Amino acid sequence: MSAEIIDGKAFAEQLRGRIAERVAQFVAQAKRKPGLAVVLVGEDPASQVYVRSKGKATVAAGMESFEHRLPATTGEDDIIALVSRLNADPKVDAILVQLPLPSGMDDKKVIATIDPAKDVDGFTIANAGRLAVGEDALVPCTPLGSLMLLKDRLGDLSGLEAVVVGRSNIVGKPMAQLLLQENCTVTIAHSRTRNLAEVVRRGDIVVAAVGRAEMIRGDWLKPGATVIDVGINRVDGKLVGDVAFADAAHVAGAITPVPGGVGPMTIALLLRNTLVAAHAREGLPAPVGL
Ligand code: NDP
Repeated sequence: MSAEIIDGKAFAEQLRGRIAERVAQFVAQAKRKPGLAVVLVGEDPASQVYVRSKGKATVAAGMESFEHRLPATTGEDDIIALVSRLNADPKVDAILVQLPLPSGMDDKKVIATIDPAKDVDGFTIANAGRLAVGEDALVPCTPLGSLMLLKDRLGDLSGLEAVVVGRSNIVGKPMAQLLLQENCTVTIAHSRTRNLAEVVRRGDIVVAAVGRAEMIRGDWLKPGATVIDVGINRVDGKLVGDVAFADAAHVAGAITPVPGGVGPMTIALLLRNTLVAAHAREGLPAPVGL
């Protein structure tokens, strides 16, 4: 193995430390804690684990966590009414609706109800549009965390070839927008891409956000590439990424592990976005260096 392992867990811990310091400053200025409301509908076990760890991390950073757990039988109108109440609640700076919602519910309609100023995941059309035109936005946590890891390792990304595999609104598309803002030459690949291995081999940077266990092989990579593996797949009770890690680590210059890479960054960026939203709501300048 020759690749450097990008330790997202350690990076996220340091970031959470810096966020906690800024939260204390915010509390001193605003005389209240930043608040994150999480809405979980149904009993999906993975979502329950995510929501629990998000709540714990929020409190550990010195913020308020408001958890709303609703049964899967809750009507869409009731969820929308709850989101509207949270929009109006002065203690709530940020709202996260845990996706996916139980089948039969319209994720898009519920997300569209979130006030863009409180849209901590950056999933509303307003925030996606602002990101696309290069205006200040709340940016989806996973791609923003992935970008931080890339900049930490590579510094200036200008002119690099970046290949993003996956074009979801949650990961692939915002990742591509962020890399474009950093002046990368960006290719977005997806399930209809021809000769995927050849396309991936162009990348000085490869971001894998597919949801297929170990699909991207070592011999698909340009030697020395920096690989960000967003994928979380459960195989025989073990978590693996979208990249065949052992194989890829012989070719890549640096690679994120699964677990311990992008996952911890997502939670840290959720806290960061909550704090950013809280500053904006109080009319305070955005916290720098986060
Ligand atoms: P989606 O299922 O929404 O999107 C998957 C994308 O991969 C689609 O654009 C799809 O293409 C593409 N794809 C599927 N099969 C292939 C293939 N054979 N070749 C090329 N492209 C393919 O997933 P998400 O973006 O929501 O998530 C991706 C992964 O990241 C998942 O494993 C998820 O669990 C993980 N994830 C991890 C997070 C973290 O914190 N670490 C946070 C969010 C997600 P098409 O559009 O053509 O169908």
